[in-house]
This record gives sequence, C-alpha cells and structure tokens, in this order.
Amino acid sequence: MPNILKERLKVLRDRLYTVKGPHGSFTIWTPRKDNKFAAEFFNAHQLSKTSSHVLTSQNPLYFVLLRQWLQTCDNEHQCDSVERSWPTRVVFVGPPDSKLELWETKSKESRLAGTGGYLALSHRWGGPTDDDKKKFCTTSENYECRKSGFLESDLPKTFRDAVQVTRELGIQYLWIDALCIIQSISGEDSKDWEDEAPLMALVFNSAYCTLAASSAMNWEEGFLPPRHIRYDKGRTTFRKPRYVCRGPVPPQNFEHDADASPLQKRAWVLQERALSRRTLHFTANYTYFECGDGVRCQNLVKLQR
Ligand SMILES: [Zn+2]
Repeated sequence: MPNILKERLKVLRDRLYTVKGPHGSFTIWTPRKDNKFAAEFFNAHQLSKTSSHVLTSQNPLYFVLLRQWLQTCDNEHQCDSVERSWPTRVVFVGPPDSKLELWETKSKESRLAGTGGYLALSHRWGGPTDDDKKKFCTTSENYECRKSGFLESDLPKTFRDAVQVTRELGIQYLWIDALCIIQSISGEDSKDWEDEAPLMALVFNSAYCTLAASSAMNWEEGFLPPRHIRYDKGRTTFRKPRYVCRGPVPPQNFEHDADASPLQKRAWVLQERALSRRTLHFTANYTYFECGDGVRCQNLVKLQR
C-alpha cells in the first residue's frame, strides 16, 4: 500500500476513533480481526468447520479459551514480567470439591515459592448487612476456623464463581478482600482493614490476573451465567479460513460491557483496574481479556486502542 494512502488511513482512523469530550479526549476501542489467535485456538482444540461449538461457562472449552488468552500473553508479551509479591493472606482453593483454606503467606513461603501466583477478585460489595458479613466474610470470630478449612458452600455465588475460575485456570490461590482481610462487624475495631487497605494497590499489581465481576451487582449474583456462543470456521476467502462467532449475540462493545458496567461504578475499582497487569472482565454480554496488548473478546475479535 502506498505510504500516502497509509497516512490518510491513519488520519481517518484517528478522526473516527478519537473523541473529544468535556474531560479531554478518549479513544474508542477499534475491532480488528484476530485470525492468528483464532486459528491457533481452532487448531489446538480440533474445532472444525463441520462442527459448531456452543460455548457457555458450563462448557470446558470456555475455560480453554480463557487459559489460551493468558498463555498467549505469557509467551508473547511482557505484561506479567514484574516481580510478584504475595498479599498477607490468600485463599488456597485446592482441587474441585476440596475444602478452601485461608493461608497466612508468611508461614507458607516454601509452599508458595515457584507457584503460578494468585488471582485477585474485583467486585461490588452491594451493601451487605452485618448478618451477611458474619456469614460470608472472614471475621475475628471465624478466623482460626477458616485457616483450618471451610466449605465453598459457605460463600456467596460471586465468590464461588471466582473459586471456580481459579481452579479452571490451574491457579491455586485467590485473593478476595472480604475473605483475606479480617472484616469488622459494627462496633468492632477495624485494625486489620486499616493495616491492609494501603497494601491493596500492591495486591492487584502483583496478581497473576485480576477477575473483574463486571456484571454482578452484589455478592449473590455471581458472574458466570450461561452464554450461548457458537464458533464456526467460516467460508474461505482467498483460501484463508475465516473464524466466526455465530448466534443470537450482540456485537462486542467493551465500552458498554466493561467500562459502563455496575462494577466500574465502584470507587476503588479504577485503582484496581489501572494497577492490574491483566484483567478478565466477566460482563453481562461477553467475557473479555485486557492486557498491555489490547482487549480480546470471547467472540474472537481483538480490540486495540
Ligand atoms: Zn499481554
């Protein structure tokens, strides 16, 4: 393509996608075909044009896609290259159906060394009552019990979804503020919170990946609803296959799905997102993966600024 044409296209693209607003200009994400990634995904998992695959969060292939996003980022980008430090506490998730354990990381240094790190959950609290907090949170009363093991069924749906994603991604450790910081019930002192709050930025910055429960208004809603998405290897053009996502699904819209989600209305979340090196956004329409290389959507489209 002649250089002059390239220049014109660039100017046009900038004009089309950079929008000036009252608080300065911002850039809209632009969709690009992501055929290289899609081809790898199709080939690695024997997806063929003769079969289509309904992908819901109950389908193991859904988590294969999430793992592949992270693997591609691990292998091809520098997004996760900073040295990791551990939070004061993490939840050890173990294999499915096993008990969860609250670990103090200082006393488990040898077990944690060389592991793949931990995931951090960014979520909306949604105004829990004192009774909710007593039931679900780590408190001074249940602290010792939680160290020796507690049931997944003791947690609300949003936290259970985070445990499931952690296990499916092959990670052993999960950080959730309500579980890893001792929560004070009305009238109690909040010393642990005061100690831990300043460290939260480091917690998100050191996580292997952040899970953003974008669609969940509160702890009970969860963020892994079934999403019926079908992939097909489409008709070929110029002998190259096109990888398409079919079905009654809306087009990807990261600004609407993630940026304008209930989660982003929470005060802390801007810091959590800005400091996370990589984030999986579980939105009402799609799951997105955001890293330094751009945003990938569950419909196999890649978005770039
Ligand atoms: Zn990356």
